[in-house]
Amino acid sequence: MIIAIDGPAGSGKSTTARAVAEQLGYVYVDTGAMYRTVALAFIRNGVSAESPSDGKVRGLLANIRLDMRFGPDGMRIFLDGQDVTGNIRTRQVTEVASRVAVIPEVRERMVQKQRRLAGIQEKERGGVVLEGRDIGTIVFPDADVKVFMKASVELRARRRYEELLDKDPNVSFQDVLSDIRARDERDVSRELSPLHQAEGTIEIDTSHIDLHEQVAMVIRAVRERTNRPIV
Ligand code: C5P
Repeated sequence: MIIAIDGPAGSGKSTTARAVAEQLGYVYVDTGAMYRTVALAFIRNGVSAESPSDGKVRGLLANIRLDMRFGPDGMRIFLDGQDVTGNIRTRQVTEVASRVAVIPEVRERMVQKQRRLAGIQEKERGGVVLEGRDIGTIVFPDADVKVFMKASVELRARRRYEELLDKDPNVSFQDVLSDIRARDERDVSRELSPLHQAEGTIEIDTSHIDLHEQVAMVIRAVRERTNRPIV
């Protein structure tokens, strides 16, 4: 059972994916964290994400190790053996992530890793939840359940702002809003695997419904797929 959840930043994908995975006894793969970790590697190695030469990108990708581990607190991600789960949430990494995500070699490598990881999880637990931008369109176009989550840009920025405020009381709402707008623009208009709603997806607009309802919609779709009774 492959459950694909896509949508723009702040649409509520992670919270929903986490809760759905928990209810079904699956793990959830945060594919954005993978692009963020590659971005961190670019920053640490002084490689520019603007217009890097093919050689530099290939060299970097060949030399870094990315590992994902799953535990009670969700997915943890490691760069060359170091747990960087907390290091990839900075404003700088967020911005660079959407820049490295347009590089074909990076996408190829991530998609390959995501498919392999999902295959292992499906064998071990019977299913897996993946969330990102291109899961239902490129990574698993034949996923059993495909979900597209959306909400207005103001609401998404508000959510992000409140999250960030906990860590940094000086953060400005206008900055968060303009960062999200710029990221949306890059994610939607890039040539390779742009963010768009795949055929046959369940659309969930999180502006008006709460988490409980969002999760229930996905679980209902899963039960319909498997003909399992709703518990
Ligand atoms: O989901 P998150 O905001 O952590 O993703 C960070 C960035 O990684 C996104 O802005 C997007 O550019 C990129 N990304 C992607 N494809 C995915 C997941 C994330 O291009 N499947």
